[in-house]
Amino acid sequence: MMGPRQEAQSALFYDFSIEDHIPSDHILRAIDDVIDLSAIRKYLADFYSSTGRPSIDPELMLRMLLVGYIMGIRSERRLCDEVHLNLAYRWFCKLDLTDAIPDHSSFSKNRHGRFRDSDVLRYVFETVVAQCIETGLASGQRYAADASIIAADANRQNSTPKADWNPEVINPDDAPRAVQEYLETLDDAAFGAASTVTPKFISHSDPASQWTGARGGPAYFAYSTNYLIDTDNAVIMDVEATRSIRQAEVGAVKTMIDRVQKVHYLKPERLIADTAYGSGPMLDWLVEKRGIAPHIPVIDKSGRKDGTLERADFTYDAENDLYICPGGKELKQYHRAYKTPRSGANKDETIRYRARKPDCDTCTLKQRCCPKEPQRKITRSIYEKSRDIARVLAQTHQYAISRKLRKKVEMSFAHLKRIHGLGRLRLRGPCGAHDEFILAATAQNLKKLAKLAPNTNSVRKAA
Ligand code: SF4
Repeated sequence: MMGPRQEAQSALFYDFSIEDHIPSDHILRAIDDVIDLSAIRKYLADFYSSTGRPSIDPELMLRMLLVGYIMGIRSERRLCDEVHLNLAYRWFCKLDLTDAIPDHSSFSKNRHGRFRDSDVLRYVFETVVAQCIETGLASGQRYAADASIIAADANRQNSTPKADWNPEVINPDDAPRAVQEYLETLDDAAFGAASTVTPKFISHSDPASQWTGARGGPAYFAYSTNYLIDTDNAVIMDVEATRSIRQAEVGAVKTMIDRVQKVHYLKPERLIADTAYGSGPMLDWLVEKRGIAPHIPVIDKSGRKDGTLERADFTYDAENDLYICPGGKELKQYHRAYKTPRSGANKDETIRYRARKPDCDTCTLKQRCCPKEPQRKITRSIYEKSRDIARVLAQTHQYAISRKLRKKVEMSFAHLKRIHGLGRLRLRGPCGAHDEFILAATAQNLKKLAKLAPNTNSVRKAA
């Protein structure tokens, strides 16, 4: 039997509760169970005037921003529309049916003002990480680090070739906000000071972004988001925005390891990363300065393709600080004593060991060893001790496990781009990249906390 026609009719009174209409398995309901922003008002109190018109509740703005990054709604204008229409979003933001939605321009004003001055986004991120640690999702034993390139809101048509670029002629007072941030970060190790090499093109709208072709295919302007994750459950322990070049990304890992130790009092037993982080100075920093085992492939360019003997064919005698060649002769830094002791290190942070010319002249292996040179030279990095430790670790069973664990950080980046929609930045400048990356990482951690924390608790209770 066909039912009656549905007619639009408005009732005078409604008995309606938003709460009843949110499915029990909705992701925002699960996140609401674990999120705690109660300390936000106290944290931001000093950044609000004691007089004047009352502001929009900062917790409401942060909840709306988190809805945007959790649900992949990137535009703040669209976010306001979605929160207006979607009951679950309204409920998560603690808004009733008749409550007004803040205007999208409020987000921009707060972001450039008190949110950045107070660094409240990092405060929220660190609060969520602390919750993950408390609930047992992150033990801080094993970290994995990597960087992912995210396209900047800049294009090639609005850029200058490096030959015509001169930051000294820019007047900071007339410059847009992203250009002012570029000038302010010229001495920052994560941005301007990361490399002395000027990129091929510099964007007019976002000069701090890096012109990069690192992904293959056509080059574009980009920033890098750097993640330091705990491999237990892929909780993001820290996040940092940098230029998309290796020096800046390696520096970001050091910054993040030290910051996590300072904020959460956790230092890992090992760091897992790919070859980009396998330079001598980085391995030495981990081993000697921080006591962390580097589960990282060593960058090694000592191999030879012409069939001649490689450095690996020579044996290092650590006690006497010399190499023994396959012919049984010694290669030393100095074959005579100097009155004034010499450091022995070259500008490229290597030490050269030389064989004696008379030894090589009469050697039957000369054609296979140094056919074009009078005697053989071997270079050794001043960080070789740490590099050797990384090589030994690379032979262990634990290292094989680490190789698999490293995939977790790549999965986090895949989710960031596919599920949270961060394939391209919407905000410009280093601060814009910082805000977007930290909000997205907070959203990822909240989802993880909502999904895994109850299980962990139940396991704990059972134990
Ligand atoms: S050529 Fe010189 S360094 Fe090479 S194996 Fe012979 S003696 Fe040793």
